[in-house]
Amino acid sequence: MQPMSDDAIQVRRVMKSYGTMLAVDDVSFNVAEGEFVSLLGPSGCGKTTTLRMIAGFTDTSGGAIRVHGREVTHLPPEKRDLGFVFQNYALWPHMTVAENVAFGLKLRRKPRDVIRNKIEEALSVTGLSGYEDRLPRQLSGGQQQRVALARALALEPQVLLMDEPLSNLDRALRVVMRRELKELQARMKMTTLYVTHDQEEALSMSNRVVIMNGGRVEQIAAPYELYENPATRFVADFVGITNFLEGTASDMGGGMVGVRLPSGQVLHAQARVPVAQGGAVRALIRPERVTISPAELSGPNVLAGRVELSEYFGAVLRYTVRLDSGEILRAEVHNFDEFIAGGSRVWICTLPEHLRVIPHDPRG
Ligand code: ATP
Repeated sequence: MQPMSDDAIQVRRVMKSYGTMLAVDDVSFNVAEGEFVSLLGPSGCGKTTTLRMIAGFTDTSGGAIRVHGREVTHLPPEKRDLGFVFQNYALWPHMTVAENVAFGLKLRRKPRDVIRNKIEEALSVTGLSGYEDRLPRQLSGGQQQRVALARALALEPQVLLMDEPLSNLDRALRVVMRRELKELQARMKMTTLYVTHDQEEALSMSNRVVIMNGGRVEQIAAPYELYENPATRFVADFVGITNFLEGTASDMGGGMVGVRLPSGQVLHAQARVPVAQGGAVRALIRPERVTISPAELSGPNVLAGRVELSEYFGAVLRYTVRLDSGEILRAEVHNFDEFIAGGSRVWICTLPEHLRVIPHDPRG
């Protein structure tokens, strides 16, 4: 394996089995220097186990892990030069903020003046200057979270690993901390690997996202790519809401692909991933990428149906439409000046550039 100089972390074909269960199954990805990468997936998909193997808290059953080109697969955590922030901040309750931040530095027997400087620096960048003498219980959840971050930063790790660091905070605080954390990470150009099951968190903070499902990697891509060009049904479903229509592919030339629906109607889409002529495919339609009209529309990508449910959320109207072909299609309208009542006959149109086509995956 050739180490690449600009990769801070390389994970190669890493596995973890518990008895006969494969918790992590052949996972590979890189994190470049200064990059923010998230591991995103549902509960139990193997995110934490992957992070813990990189950290050295869990043994691997196979594969290799490198940090800045150095193989660390079998090294103990303290020899990997990584920083950690976990979901439960694990602050010492009887120690002040300053003592908590100093803890790791003292373990490493740093001189007293170095420790004092590092505490000052770490508390300053996390916005905690002035809180040195408080005990954790005298702090808010967000402040405690920042102490945990300051403690990790004080050790000046080459790479920061974070496991759901914001999940114990209430939603409003989580959104604020998300921005603060991202801003700090970008300012310090800190290479970060971040575990979360929260799609918004992963999309809004990351340079790239590794989507995991059942111990495997489903897709690795920048947030925009992930949302706009999901590689699998799982990704399309997990990142946002998607309508799926099953059909067979027909090549139309000129970078277009046709999706023949069971009704015989052919939807036109821009071809982005190769699909076999006549092969089973799924057309993906994002609810916000359609036009819905109570007046009849004509054209190639028009689907007729009836509104089963219309829901008003202030900034958005959500329609659940039963197509004439029997499928349910969800539509979302953000700029609206009419409200289409339940029971109304409607026509839905989607542009070829907004329609994605992926091969039908027999796994589901
Ligand atoms: P969550 O978001 O719920 O933390 P996760 O994606 O981080 O989930 P992991 O904690 O990595 O998932 O767990 C992956 C799988 O491995 C799960 O099925 C879990 O039950 C199993 N697992 C994790 N640790 C152990 C262990 N020590 N012994 C046996 N099975 C384990």
